[in-house]
Amino acid sequence: MSEATWTHKLNPTVLAIKPSAIRRFFDLAAETKGIISLGVGEPDFVTPWHVREACIFALEQGYTNYTPNSGLPELRREIVRYVAESYGVEYRPDCEVLVTVGVSEALDLALRAVVAPGDEVLIPEPCYVSYQPCTVLAGGVPVPVPSGIEEGFQARAEALARAITPRTKVLLLCFPNNPTGAVLPRRELEAIARLCQAHDLIVISDEIYAELTYEGEHTSIAALPGMRDRTIFLTGFSKAFAMTGWRIGYALGHADFIGAMTKIHQYTMLCAPVTAQMAALEALRNGREEMRRMVREFSYRRRLVVKAFADMGLPCFNPGGAFYAFPDIRSTGLSSEEFTERLIKEEKVAVVPGNAFGACGEGFVRCSYAASVDELNEAFKRMHRFVERYRAGRRAAVRS
Ligand code: PLP
Repeated sequence: MSEATWTHKLNPTVLAIKPSAIRRFFDLAAETKGIISLGVGEPDFVTPWHVREACIFALEQGYTNYTPNSGLPELRREIVRYVAESYGVEYRPDCEVLVTVGVSEALDLALRAVVAPGDEVLIPEPCYVSYQPCTVLAGGVPVPVPSGIEEGFQARAEALARAITPRTKVLLLCFPNNPTGAVLPRRELEAIARLCQAHDLIVISDEIYAELTYEGEHTSIAALPGMRDRTIFLTGFSKAFAMTGWRIGYALGHADFIGAMTKIHQYTMLCAPVTAQMAALEALRNGREEMRRMVREFSYRRRLVVKAFADMGLPCFNPGGAFYAFPDIRSTGLSSEEFTERLIKEEKVAVVPGNAFGACGEGFVRCSYAASVDELNEAFKRMHRFVERYRAGRRAAVRS
């Protein structure tokens, strides 16, 4: 390899962005034989067969071309129907829907479409690892709004209000939440909606885990009075339909927002892959029963996980959605990163340090239960042993 470096030629904004803190642990886990990974953020299910078959059939029929920039018209119509039925929000398929390459692309487009240089974006933390870097890449200024276990890791209107300045333009919400599994009850959402209206904020609402809501119904902020037009609603197929590798998602919102996002999308992505769009169409038309079955399975595992942490004596609030638990590991005397690194090395179990999702995640780890019950049971046996060992060591150190 050449000795020359080219970093001086790189965009300083990109240079200043740190690679995801999760990467190091994934690399460590990948080189550890016999590891049980509770680190990944994707369902352990394979995409249901009828969806895969629809894609194969589409290829046989010769679906190999570009689609319209905003996505296949029949998929956009199906998306609009699904969202109206599921969340009670109505959109026009011709100008208020954009099919994207995952929620990842939709998030990037939404931020780039509304954020001008120096605009502030409120980001409740702990949060998904992409929010801060994507805000910075869009020219915005991320403003973290931390929350803690005592408030169930829910974004609170009062805390958000304190962070608002004349430069605040966007609130970036994600409930059910990655990494905590927290959901936002309607009452809290209503307070946040009033705040957004009072301060004329745009909401970018990442609802990729909406279907994975275990207690009560998911409410979208877009469904609240006065919020539809100021919300860019993002969701997709990766989690609920077990379709991470297909790279397919969508954005819904006022035609001005979707129009601006489509402009960026048409110059950068052109369109989402036609095969993934055909598969998504089948998932929406005939995949809901299978989706509900996966959700029931996650719900069962969630109870198992919460009980396992209670048995270990690690406080873990009851996650109302997604497929993550976020236990408090402070009683072990280890930091989040020490806990994660030693758990991989000593017991071959991978989780993710909570501080990867914001400073307020320190003292916690993210544990995904998108793994089989056998794997979960074995992982918890090992983790229990690990936690006991460190707690005993800590007690001995205090005595001596
Ligand atoms: N948003 C959140 C909150 C996520 O957890 C993830 C993936 O883990 C994404 C977006 C990315 O989703 P997609 O696969 O649709 O790009």
